[in-house]
Amino acid sequence: MNTALLAERIDGKGFAATLVNQLTDEVNDIKAATGLTPGLAVVLVGEDPASSVYVSAKHRQTLAIGMQSFVHRLPADTAQADLMTLLDALNAANEVNGILVQLPLPAHLDTHAVINAIDPDKDVDGFHILNAGRLATGQDALVPCTPLGCLMMLKDRLGNLEGLNAVVVGKSNIVGKPMAQLLMAENCTVSVAHSKSRDVPALCRSADILVVAAGCPELVKGDWIKPGAVVIDVGINRIERDGRSRIVGDVAFDEAGHAAAITPVPGGVGPMTIACLLANTVTAFKRQHHHVTTKAVVAV
Ligand code: NAP
Repeated sequence: MNTALLAERIDGKGFAATLVNQLTDEVNDIKAATGLTPGLAVVLVGEDPASSVYVSAKHRQTLAIGMQSFVHRLPADTAQADLMTLLDALNAANEVNGILVQLPLPAHLDTHAVINAIDPDKDVDGFHILNAGRLATGQDALVPCTPLGCLMMLKDRLGNLEGLNAVVVGKSNIVGKPMAQLLMAENCTVSVAHSKSRDVPALCRSADILVVAAGCPELVKGDWIKPGAVVIDVGINRIERDGRSRIVGDVAFDEAGHAAAITPVPGGVGPMTIACLLANTVTAFKRQHHHVTTKAVVAV
């Protein structure tokens, strides 16, 4: 579908910059009130180039808002027991308020066991089984960063989400499932599509809110999108086009002009993910120090 209409671009980069500024102020307030500096520990096992870039970005941005950053780069053949010993030490360290183990882990490591070895109150990725359970049952949880960022942008654009039809394409533990839980908590009517779903285009056409996290370049075509829908494209896919390597999302952006609003790729969901990681670290600090009261930056 080629359309002359122009959907509003949801400026994830700008949104993230505003959030980061607010977090910088909040970290300053915390330091002034407690004399303590919130800290984030990131553990990387192996030398996957993409993971290494993500870890460096997290390190830089953690320092940039005035927090402490502790990066542990371990060899690819690190034994499970040694990784568990490091996590025990980080769980016990007072200066570490958030812990993140960069995924994917090398195949010989048990990812579920590693994630569940993190203190749930320091689990700033929100992947620990207790946080997943808390989210699913409507209790206070640390929420996975990517869906948290998506929800913040949706609430900013739409306000009250109650009663809206939301379709989430993708059911991974890190994006699709927690996204669906968050939308249910907002009283949306939620459907989740995956690779075995029947007639995904028709399901998408029913969506007032369409969140796509499938990892398939430009899977969602223009005629899958209901006019006036708000579309959040989580996908990050590198493709070759016109002899050039480029990044595209899971939605055919140029065909989505009849949507009310859409996140671009890049510049949409991506920047919000790290900002939400920083926000989760500040939240974790505050929960670990109940006496600290500052203005809540992340209210979803
Ligand atoms: P994932 O673990 O591979 O999960 C993909 C999900 O999409 C699965 O549930 C799969 O179904 C479903 N799916 C695949 N092809 C489909 C199709 N043709 N129709 C309907 N559903 C389909 O991926 P992920 O980790 O959730 O990531 C998804 C995308 O988001 C990737 O491009 C990733 O790079 C990106 N991402 C971006 C950020 C960010 O910060 N912007 C963060 C995380 C991920 P089955 O369950 O049936 O296999």
